[in-house]
Amino acid sequence: MDVTLVVPCYNEEPMLPVFWEQTRQAVAACRQVHFTWLFVNDGSTDNSLNWLKTLAQQNPDVKVISLSRNFGKEAAVTAGLAFVAPTAKAAIVIDADLQDPPSLIGEFIQQFEAGYEVVYGVRTSRKADSWIKRTTAHLFYKGYNAVAERPIPAHASDCRLISRRVLDALLTLPERERFMKGLFNWVGFKSIAVPFVRQKRAAGSTKWNYWKLWNFALQGLTAGSTVLLRLWAYIGMCISLVAVLFAGWVAFKKIVWGNPVSGYASLMVAILFCSGVQLISLGIMGEYLSRIFVEVKQRPLYLVDEKVNF
Ligand code: UDP
Ligand code: MG
Repeated sequence: MDVTLVVPCYNEEPMLPVFWEQTRQAVAACRQVHFTWLFVNDGSTDNSLNWLKTLAQQNPDVKVISLSRNFGKEAAVTAGLAFVAPTAKAAIVIDADLQDPPSLIGEFIQQFEAGYEVVYGVRTSRKADSWIKRTTAHLFYKGYNAVAERPIPAHASDCRLISRRVLDALLTLPERERFMKGLFNWVGFKSIAVPFVRQKRAAGSTKWNYWKLWNFALQGLTAGSTVLLRLWAYIGMCISLVAVLFAGWVAFKKIVWGNPVSGYASLMVAILFCSGVQLISLGIMGEYLSRIFVEVKQRPLYLVDEKVNF
């Protein structure tokens, strides 16, 4: 049985030798499986590509595709999945930084052999993360699952095994906005979670900061739900209803008691509140519109510069 490990790499030079050693040891236990490593160099600016090429020259089980620039992890994973050999029965996506422990590979294979087509790691604890990261991640999953058409399992890692069928299904999804957690989940099929504890990064540094994470969350929300877009009609209805009641009250006051010309405060509050609400709703439409714009351009998700061992 052939299984491909898809490894997105962006400036992972210090991690790659350790990753290679540890994953090689981890897969040695699965004797019935033939593993291929498919490294996707996502426009690294360090020496990652040269190291990978040297490894690939010495080892026929290592394949490398190098993208023409940095396209981001989601695109790198998509590229890797597209280049998984047709003979592979399954693909496992795993980060190069060993935060997803290589011992997961063996567990994934076991579940795959037991008949599951999607096997994904779920973090049992986020103690390795800072308080703020933990809280924002928690809020994201709560918010996402409250509005999304298909809820995603909370704290699921991107590290997962997918069968050939799931892989083929994923590759038919044409969107440019690739929120992989959502897409993996959208295709369905028999799935199971494997609990694990995410390790701290041993070397190198994360490519995420809070601004990037915020935008990633927005990407996920807009891709996974249209509720945010449709919400405004209801908010507008509520505000209009309040406005009608208030107008009735103002008119009633005028008829019964005359008009003492006051109300600066209430006028200001109403204007500020309503213009704020309108700007937020416009902004959300802008979020969706900008993504529609990206989709209609139909640009390729990534460009491949080099392939080794194909
Ligand atoms: N990665 C990538 N392209 C990017 C950013 C990250 O291919 O633009 C890879 C990175 O090399 C690593 C994985 O995606 O293998 C996860 O990245 P990172 O560790 O920065 O994310 P975190 O674990 O902090 O969520
Ligand atoms: Mg990481």
